[in-house]
Amino acid sequence: MYIILLGAPGAGKGTQATAIAQKLNLAHIASGDLFRQALEQGTGLGRQARVYMEKGELVPDEVTTQMILERMSAPDSEKGAVLDGFPRNLEQAKALDKALAGQSRAIDRIIAISVSEEELRKRLGGRRVCRQCQTVYNIVESPPEVGGKCDKCGGELYQRPDDTAETVKKRLEVYFEQTAPLIDYYRQKGKLIEVGGEGTIDEVTRRTVAALNEGELIAR
Ligand SMILES: [Zn+2]
Repeated sequence: MYIILLGAPGAGKGTQATAIAQKLNLAHIASGDLFRQALEQGTGLGRQARVYMEKGELVPDEVTTQMILERMSAPDSEKGAVLDGFPRNLEQAKALDKALAGQSRAIDRIIAISVSEEELRKRLGGRRVCRQCQTVYNIVESPPEVGGKCDKCGGELYQRPDDTAETVKKRLEVYFEQTAPLIDYYRQKGKLIEVGGEGTIDEVTRRTVAALNEGELIAR
């Protein structure tokens, strides 16, 4: 079973990908980690990617797609995998489908975690990080005991430039612009499952696994 997880910044996609992979005994393939590993290990694809990154250019979709495919062929992906952070746009989705079809494989389900834009802004805009130990807080949902100070080490909490209102607005715009066609594409293929991303982490995980069960994918 191959699952793609889609979700806006702040939707909790990474957290859910980890939880779902664990629950269903699937590999968790996070594209960000994959890049770092390929670069560290100096694999063929890692070296290719490095050439572009050193020039400050985007790594071409073919290289990224190959990296994902290679990872999907690793022994721990035998039962399936949860893809997190890839594909990011329609071109990558089509490239992935084409490459998988060539190996008589296919993506089974796409889970889109949907959270209202208002809630996303609240979550991202409320995020504060400890300067010393990098613990993440949210001044609305998980505030520190003493305002502006880290519970663990007493360090100063700050707002990352990525999380200011203006940047958050931009990040969400870019996300929705790139992802809307992706969601349409998978919906037309009848593979899309939309799951509400509001509530606790556990609630969202349960909702997602239940939705997958309904699709009878896990019945075996
Ligand atoms: Zn701290």
